[in-house]
Amino acid sequence: MAPVKVTKICCIGAGYVGGPTCAVIALKCPHITVTIVDLNKARVDAWNSPDFALPIYEPGLEEVVRQARGRNLFFSTDVDKAIEEADLIFVSVNTPTKKSGVGAGFAADLNYVELATRRIATVATSSKIVVEKSTVPCRTAESMRTILEANSKPNCRFDILSNPEFLAEGTAISDLFSPDRVLIGSLQTPEGISACRSLSDVYANWVPAERILNVGLWSSELSKLAANAMLAQRISSINALSAICEATGANIDEVAHAIGYDSRIGPKFLKASVGFGGSCFQKDILNLVYLSESLHLPEVAAYWRQVVEMNEYQKRRFSKRVVDTLFNTITGKRIAVLGFAFKADTGDTRESAAITLIKDFQSEKALVNVYDPQVSEEQIWLDLQEASPLTPLDSIKKQVTISKSALEACKNAEAVVIATEWKEFKEIDWEAVYAGMNKPAFVFDGRLLVDAEKLRSIGFKVTTIGRPSSV
Ligand code: NAD
Repeated sequence: MAPVKVTKICCIGAGYVGGPTCAVIALKCPHITVTIVDLNKARVDAWNSPDFALPIYEPGLEEVVRQARGRNLFFSTDVDKAIEEADLIFVSVNTPTKKSGVGAGFAADLNYVELATRRIATVATSSKIVVEKSTVPCRTAESMRTILEANSKPNCRFDILSNPEFLAEGTAISDLFSPDRVLIGSLQTPEGISACRSLSDVYANWVPAERILNVGLWSSELSKLAANAMLAQRISSINALSAICEATGANIDEVAHAIGYDSRIGPKFLKASVGFGGSCFQKDILNLVYLSESLHLPEVAAYWRQVVEMNEYQKRRFSKRVVDTLFNTITGKRIAVLGFAFKADTGDTRESAAITLIKDFQSEKALVNVYDPQVSEEQIWLDLQEASPLTPLDSIKKQVTISKSALEACKNAEAVVIATEWKEFKEIDWEAVYAGMNKPAFVFDGRLLVDAEKLRSIGFKVTTIGRPSSV
């Protein structure tokens, strides 16, 4: 069966994945028209903004959009038109963890995937290749196919592919330019293999053939969950070791360096921290936990659940260390929290450790100054309100202040907490920070970012993850 030559792509979902991914496809494939659609008009307007005030911050993204937008890259709220015109459709909608209902807290909420799939079935009058880009539980493609086939029009066939995205926020554009691999899962039928070839040909415009992996549908879906679970597991493992370091006098940097030399382990992703955040790691592990439980594999579920529990423990342990070190009380004390995004080089705050830390400090009646170079004030208030739904925003604002710079946040504070590894925090004028703070002045480095010895020589009392003393 000859593969369809893709000339028009529609991407449903203009978020952190759909936006950058399909912008890069448009850039690398000038012969393909790419339309990224979303129901969220404000988001689409931002993608189309004349001054390129894009809805997400990602290094290199603006340059990509500047080159392709209006040429063969379009952003629109007209979902139906884009579906109808496309020969290949990415479904890149959000798949959050359910917050209520049966399986709440574990199951993936597939409502958005289902609505998008039903829309494709309703609107399409010609055959389409439908590609799961969202991260979904294993065998979701089967549900999508059932919905599509039950609602399709005559002479209209749908081939389903899984093509999970492995980009990391903060490095999305370089990850997309030279991915470790592109994974495409298909049914092993002539039609499935042919559809797989059509999508492979799109990526082949810039990705070397040996990096485009073709596997079965279910393997592809599970591989995405497995990759995130293994990455998060590595972080929880090094964080568990950091607790032992703090209690024994070992140094987590030295331990990570030593074990990373083992070629079977490798040096990457071995940095201890206050804990992982972001929209994916926790969600995808819980997804795996739910899947394991549904398959009556309780021991497997318990194994993966522990990775998330260790992450929660790490955040709680860090907050407690701050309180303990500040003479067991932070009531009325001012704490500067530097960083609100879940990691550097992104404005994304989903599941950010900073939110948990600030909530802990609020509950201990501290005053908190927050500063982040990329996260808007509006977003910070939204997140803090969501974290404490029973507290009126006015009361939150009595305890929390948003600062315009790191220096301003640290003024008259007793302690600085580094929650995000923004480079600018490494480079701030720490002497000036020290001069403006109450004494003794404490720094709690939750990201192993600053030179602790240098700060100590200025006069700070420094506490870092995975090292014992604070002086
Ligand atoms: P997001 O929330 O930033 O974007 C999803 C977008 O889909 C939203 O703008 C929403 O309005 C839109 N949407 C939802 N239903 C729609 C519909 N029926 N029609 C049109 N638009 C619709 O989410 P994201 O971070 O881009 O993640 C998307 C998927 O990719 C998720 O499954 C996620 O797990 C996965 N993923 C995310 C990352 C990451 O780093 N963010 C990395 C790899 C995979």
